[in-house]
Amino acid sequence: MIEKRVQDALNKQVNAELGSAYVYLAMSAKFEEDGLAGFAKWMRLQAVEEVKHAMKIFDHIHERDGAVALEAVAKPAGGWKTPRAAFEAALAHERKISGMIHDLHTLARKEDDPAAENLMRWFIDEQVEEEKTAADIVRTLERIGDDPRGLYLLDRELGTRAE
Ligand code: MG
Repeated sequence: MIEKRVQDALNKQVNAELGSAYVYLAMSAKFEEDGLAGFAKWMRLQAVEEVKHAMKIFDHIHERDGAVALEAVAKPAGGWKTPRAAFEAALAHERKISGMIHDLHTLARKEDDPAAENLMRWFIDEQVEEEKTAADIVRTLERIGDDPRGLYLLDRELGTRAE
């Protein structure tokens, strides 16, 4: 069984992960429209990864004989003028998600729920990776500045992402 407070918080996190997928899907669409096929592919795969995060929590709730409650997914902000602006927004978004994961981990400990605590530990490690990846790309985009060749090469590199 799963305690209601933990279940509610996990359901909120399912929504947040699906919200992340939606943000990255919107960024993918913007890149596609701007002719940046590699950036678009990278963001599309990132959106798929966020759906997997949501499903990991979705499955956990059911494995614990709980109930999943799906809420409306927030509309992505949009309006990113440059690839750098988009990746800065992605980094800020991942930092916000990390904060939510941290709060969930604290709640699981407080409610003496080691299973949820373990699940959140997996997500804590995952968030370290997510933040590092986004920060690395922001740094690269800062170095590139207005150099179209640099942007071309990064677009090609991001397009090699396989999953
Ligand atoms: Mg995620």
